[in-house]
Amino acid sequence: MTNIENVTVAGGGVLGSQIAFQSAFKGKKVTIYDINDEAIAAAEQRIKNRRDLYKHDINATDEQFDAGLNNLSYSADLAEAVKDADLVIEAVPEKPSIKHNFYQSLAKVAPEKTIFASNSSTYVPSTYAADTGRPAKFLCLHFANHVWRMNTAEIMGSDQTDPDIFNEIVDYAKEIGMVPIPLHKEQPGYILNSLLVPFLEDAGYLWGNDIADPETIDKTWMIGTGSPVGPFGAYDAVGLRTIYNIIEEQKGDDPDFKPFLEKVRKMLDEGKTGSDAGHGFYDY
Ligand code: NAD
Repeated sequence: MTNIENVTVAGGGVLGSQIAFQSAFKGKKVTIYDINDEAIAAAEQRIKNRRDLYKHDINATDEQFDAGLNNLSYSADLAEAVKDADLVIEAVPEKPSIKHNFYQSLAKVAPEKTIFASNSSTYVPSTYAADTGRPAKFLCLHFANHVWRMNTAEIMGSDQTDPDIFNEIVDYAKEIGMVPIPLHKEQPGYILNSLLVPFLEDAGYLWGNDIADPETIDKTWMIGTGSPVGPFGAYDAVGLRTIYNIIEEQKGDDPDFKPFLEKVRKMLDEGKTGSDAGHGFYDY
């Protein structure tokens, strides 16, 4: 059991709204902080729209979903939003200038007891540790999109993170229904993306350069390794847009990946964005 009861999630966008509701659904008192009333209204709507997903994916009842909603509050005032926080989970945009500014502002108003955790996908904690003014109470806690179903929580400290704080966040992840994935040291991309991104890139290279079609590549992987899903099935599950952005960023200038990126861009234009949309490399 942790002592973490009051949680503030900063940024109520795609991931922040999911992390906030999942924590509230598991009984935490959660405040969502965002920059203005419009962003807050968008976060509230995003959360309400997930009722059917919670019912369908994890058999949540209406009563359980409503109890989660009742544990949520919203604020566009940072000092007010964090005044009782045991934990602040930061899910503001993946832009260093925004994150540096956010941690500097947060450091001025958060109580001394508050642990800060970043959901950043690509930055390691030491990037922002100095801004927080409390490097011993700062680490990364990284969720995957669709947190209620794809329930990994990768936990990564810097060499300044207090091991007791690290362990408390491991326990917090369990309390909110996640499978904790503790890392021993800093690694950009954590474990999942360190494995997944090169794998998906190589599959994209094979298809993009007409070496084989997606079904054949998936079949090869599935029969050859016993895995229930191949790389293109994984593309559909994660969402093509997210993976396109990552590969575009890393391989956008590499001629070997140009045909692949063009093919995926065409799929995105046609609305084939993955299993959530009903269509991707496969139909659902
Ligand atoms: P998003 O653009 O959907 O949401 C960002 C939210 O932050 C918006 O509501 C925005 O209004 C708000 N915001 C902007 N500036 C702010 C500030 N100064 N203070 C507070 N809020 C501010 O982004 P997202 O996809 O939810 O990503 C957020 C973080 O989560 C990023 O670090 C990203 O790397 C990480 N992440 C995203 C995914 C994903 O699949 N989208 C998965 C894992 C981790």
